[in-house]
Amino acid sequence: MIKKKIALFGGTFDPVHLGHTAVAAAAAEHIGAEKIVFIPAKRSPLKTSLPQVKDDDRLAMIALAIADDEKFLLSDYELRKTRPSYTLETVRYFQADYSGEALIYWLIGADSIDELSRWYGISELIDECNLSVMFRAGCKPPNFTKFEDIWGAARVEKLQKNIIQTPLIDISSTEIRNRLVAGGDVTDMLAPAVADYIREHGLYQSGAKS
Ligand code: ATP
Repeated sequence: MIKKKIALFGGTFDPVHLGHTAVAAAAAEHIGAEKIVFIPAKRSPLKTSLPQVKDDDRLAMIALAIADDEKFLLSDYELRKTRPSYTLETVRYFQADYSGEALIYWLIGADSIDELSRWYGISELIDECNLSVMFRAGCKPPNFTKFEDIWGAARVEKLQKNIIQTPLIDISSTEIRNRLVAGGDVTDMLAPAVADYIREHGLYQSGAKS
């Protein structure tokens, strides 16, 4: 039986921007994924700072950003948990949710490669899903050969095979937050409905929370 392919896309999405939706769409195309599920994190287990705006605002902005693409879905699975969720737990939850009948992909940007070795259960995660690293503007093309001693040749080969050469889109949530605090223009970085939401709710007017 040919399994359907589902891509999961986690992040803080504080806020979701056009880089997220563009690379997710390109990755879905490359993989042949039926659906891409955006999964906002309560907070990153590895980041010291908290998201700057409320969970409901991040959810609402993602819903607006993905509204026009029927491949895109939104899940509040990680936000409903009382503590930050490890990716491995989230992947296992979705495997079970699809009754083991889907091939699960987990998308990350190339900027996250160096922290992967600190992820909880990283070897199991590499084994149990297709961890797919996307190109990111400002980052070197992904390469895993330096991890061969820790994860072994087979895992490194799998990671290399799953690299996706997504378009380079030089947008980050940090840049958007910084521009908004400084009263700058962010319209070219956000879906129009997300830019409207930020304006209407007065989000990101002050500096970072920690
Ligand atoms: P911040 O600037 O707050 O760290 P971010 O722009 O990196 O935020 P996240 O929500 O942390 O956004 O990103 C979620 C995932 O999307 C991460 O795996 C990240 O590497 C990836 N990502 C974000 N922006 C891009 C982009 N422009 N190109 C490729 N991948 C991206």
